[in-house]
Amino acid sequence: TRKLLMIPGPTPVARSIQDQMGRETVAFGDPAFVKDFKELLEDLKVLFKCSGEAFVVAGTGTMGMEMAIANTTKKGDNVLIVSHGFFGDRFIDLCNRKGLNADVISSEWGETVPVEKIREKLKEKKYAAMTVTHVDTSTGVCASVAEIGKMMKEFPETIYIVDGVCATAGEPEYVDEMGIDVLLTGSQKAFGVAPGLTMLWVSQKAMDRRKSLGTIPEFYIDFEKWLPIMKDPSKYYATPAVNLVWALKESVRIIKEEGIENRYARHKKYAAAMQDALETLGFKVLAKKGCRAVTLSNLVYPEGTDDAKFRGLLAEEGIMVAGGLAAYAGRMFRLGHMGNIDKHDLVSVIATIERALYRAGMPVELGKGVGVVQKHLMD
Ligand code: PMP
Repeated sequence: TRKLLMIPGPTPVARSIQDQMGRETVAFGDPAFVKDFKELLEDLKVLFKCSGEAFVVAGTGTMGMEMAIANTTKKGDNVLIVSHGFFGDRFIDLCNRKGLNADVISSEWGETVPVEKIREKLKEKKYAAMTVTHVDTSTGVCASVAEIGKMMKEFPETIYIVDGVCATAGEPEYVDEMGIDVLLTGSQKAFGVAPGLTMLWVSQKAMDRRKSLGTIPEFYIDFEKWLPIMKDPSKYYATPAVNLVWALKESVRIIKEEGIENRYARHKKYAAAMQDALETLGFKVLAKKGCRAVTLSNLVYPEGTDDAKFRGLLAEEGIMVAGGLAAYAGRMFRLGHMGNIDKHDLVSVIATIERALYRAGMPVELGKGVGVVQKHLMD
């Protein structure tokens, strides 16, 4: 059986992207590579409407989170963490280790913190930075990044950091318009590239903040060290991941070919189809209506479902999904539907879920969920 990787990252890597990773590796100073890298950085700024700087550095999403904090805050600063789950919470330890004062406002899992509550909190003291996780992968909740960005105009001293790891290239993100100061993401989710690259978009305001900090303790993740390389990739700071850069460039070519707005619309359509079909099959989408991500769904099991058995049956049939985190371990599964997947994948996944339910002895009418997906696809 062919395998289909439907976990919320890494997502399926298209053949043409894999081919870039299989190319013969060249020197990072190779003129053809330098040209490719330069074009990639320009494209990234245009696609995500950022008039500031774009960075592509070898690392993962977590490194992007650390990079955002390290370059905009100094020991003793206050940071406000808006958390909608496990990945929002990840900023807490990260900030505490750096000697920052981390204040957290969280929601129940499946809900968002109201923007008004964030505003009230920001009024309490001077925050050097605030973090918002665009899509928290543990809950499938999508934050109101644009609305929060608008409100942030009242707090010009606070750097607005958005973790887009499970969102960028699937959920609409316009860096300038949304007032985002640092957007960070990884290569392995909605870009559909293998894991290993961190991408960041940084406003002029955040670059000025970095400058004002002088020498920072972090070495590899310093914006000031990487900036000259992002301006002229023939220069050296630390060796770029040559083949991954090519892979990301191919992903960006695919995104441009599809059209980024079409890509956003496709994600929205696919999410509605999957969420509707899965609810028809008896699962409950954890995220409340109005704050549901389009990149993944977190499905709470109907009473009596054996998590290990259900996911084991799916895996036997070739569909990989992820389990629930923290309090939802064993009670939920997580399904990615982002990046370079297509309608064939959606139909297969729902059909396979129906078979797994059937084989697990759960009540299911074969074809019912597939019918729902089909209707959405024909709209
Ligand atoms: N933030 C979010 C929202 C994520 O989903 C993840 C990964 N699941 C991370 C950060 C961390 O990224 P990585 O695993 O690439 O370090």
